[in-house]
Amino acid sequence: MTREEWAREQMRCWICGWTGSHINPLTTHEIARGPAREAALKEPAAWFCACQSCHMGILDSMPIAEQLGIKAMEDPENYDRVKVNLLRHRAPDAVSEREVIIEAAKHYQRIRQRC
Ligand SMILES: [Zn+2]
Repeated sequence: MTREEWAREQMRCWICGWTGSHINPLTTHEIARGPAREAALKEPAAWFCACQSCHMGILDSMPIAEQLGIKAMEDPENYDRVKVNLLRHRAPDAVSEREVIIEAAKHYQRIRQRC
């Protein structure tokens, strides 16, 4: 699946729940920065859906563990913590499964409060 095909399947911002509009469209963020970003463009495990507002705001300073926790809940088919750690040139367990599960649980609580 290409990044574009994946993006078309995303229905809402994983952070705020917004469904996207012309003014504030849904965008694809990579869970990687700098030189690692190039490889992340081809790696579904690194793709993260956010509206433009969240992408340029809260996501900019969001820890990797939190991004992976949200990824695990919103896109479990493509979630791969070790792949993202290696993509970022870190140790395979640089971000641990325990850290991700804690963040996934927090994300679940936030989603429940939204409904
Ligand atoms: Zn948003």
